[in-house]
Order: sequence, then C-alpha cells, then structure tokens
Amino acid sequence: MVMLLRAPHVRTAGRSWTALNALRPRGDVATSSKFVTPRYSTTPSAFALRLGSQERYCSSTPVLQRRRMADPETTKEVRKYLQQSHDRIFENNKHWAEEMRKKKPEFFTDLSAGQAPDYLWIGCSDSRIPAEAITGLEPGEMFIHRNIANLVNNIDLNVMSVVNYAVRHLKVKHIVVCGHYGCGGVKAAMTPKDMGLLNPWLRNIRDVYRLHQDELDTLEGEAKYDRLVELNVHEQCRNVIKTAAVQQCWAENEFPVVHGWVFGFNDGLLKDLKFDHEGQLAEIQKIYDLTKDF
Ligand SMILES: [Zn+2]
Repeated sequence: MVMLLRAPHVRTAGRSWTALNALRPRGDVATSSKFVTPRYSTTPSAFALRLGSQERYCSSTPVLQRRRMADPETTKEVRKYLQQSHDRIFENNKHWAEEMRKKKPEFFTDLSAGQAPDYLWIGCSDSRIPAEAITGLEPGEMFIHRNIANLVNNIDLNVMSVVNYAVRHLKVKHIVVCGHYGCGGVKAAMTPKDMGLLNPWLRNIRDVYRLHQDELDTLEGEAKYDRLVELNVHEQCRNVIKTAAVQQCWAENEFPVVHGWVFGFNDGLLKDLKFDHEGQLAEIQKIYDLTKDF
C-alpha cells in the first residue's frame, strides 16, 4: 500500500478518494497518479511538496502496518508541518486582533454587543471564496452558511435553521445564494457514476440537471458546466423562497430579497444572475404558499 496525500491534514483513502477527487475543480484533477501535488501554494514551507513522495494510504491497511510504513524522518517532518500549520493560525489571529484594535479601538466592544447583519450568504464550502473579503464586508455584516455546491435542501436541518434564524430573528434584508464557476460539487454531479456517500447530496444537483435537461443538452463542455452552476444557483434561490420564514417575512416587511450570484475565479468578480424575486415568489406560491395559517 502506498500513501496518498494532498496535504498532510487531508488524507483520503480507497473509494472515498475517487469521490473526493471528483470534487476537485477543473484543471487539477489527478485520478490515477500515485499522489497529488499539494495545491497550497502558500504553504509555510516547501515541505508540503516533499509529501508527494510519500506512499499511498489505504483505509483497509491495518493501523499497525500503516505505522510501520512511515519512515521516521517523514514522520518527524509531518509532525513539524502539522505544528507549524496549526501555530500560524494563532500568530495570524494575534496580528489581526492587534490591527483591528489599532484601526478601531471600539471594534471588539461593538462586536460583543451583538449582531445585526443585513445579509445572509449561502455559498459553497470551496476554500477559494472568502465571502467577506470578496464583498468588502466587515465582521458582523454577513450571516454565513456554506456547504458543498451551495445547496438549500429542505430536509437539511442545518441550512433550514440558518435561514429561519437569519430571517425571523436577525431580520436580514438580503439572502444571497452564491455559486461559483469551476464548482467541484457541480462537476461531480455531472459525472455519471457512483460517488458513495456523496450520492444523496449530489442528487440535488442531478435533479437540477433533470429539470433543465433540454437547455443543458444543447451545450457542450465548459459552457454546459458553467450553465449548470448558474441553474443550480437559480434553483437554490427558489428553494429559499419556498420556506415559510421567507414568505411570511416578505409578506409583512417586503424583505428579505433573494439574490442569485456566481463568483468567477478568473477575474474575481461576482456575476448577478438577476434572480426575479417577486416573479418567482408569485409563481412558487401557486403551490407552495406558506403565508396562511391552518
Ligand atoms: Zn463549489
């Protein structure tokens, strides 16, 4: 057995590797190689690159055997890297807290007082899309939920709780569903094969494909991929509108407004899909009207 590492803290194994690899964005998929070059160009040292020489790890390998495989020098380096990559966060945090205090002495006093964000952001978990950084918002201005491929599934208690809390208690004015081109989750859903544990999650996107099959089947390659990303955002916006919290709050206050955006890695810009909140709400309420009591 050989070890497979993307970075020391991201071990994958056996069948799950196949599924996870499908989630990798276009352009860096390596399905059959012995190892994948770590994608962390900002790693604190060149150490991560050397991990590429390690052996492939398999979940079926007994723990003791796995331990025996690791050579002491590599083990030492792995531990050193783990310590460094942990410690840098605390160094960064200390630096950030000092900077914020310098810029605005009352900053942390204000944060402690509570939150009143205008925005709820529902985005992809992809590490390349820092919501506050790309929107220029400060801590306290955006309530955030992220999952693979920015899905709003009505039996996902997590996202439903977030929407409910953001709308009914925080009284957010805007709900943004933000997808991104090059989304690994969408790509995986376009791949017709068994993805194991990911199947139920990806089913949501495959259903979006089915709903828009006529349009998507006229497209090829990247154009099809990009369009499914947009259509997925559109359908998730519709799912947000289907919730009782959003419908009832809108009926009372004329907010929140739901928006569908897509982020592009190529230029760092957000594209507004011009989701028609009111038009979609009217259409949805023909069947999903939840504004009336029993
Ligand atoms: Zn994504």
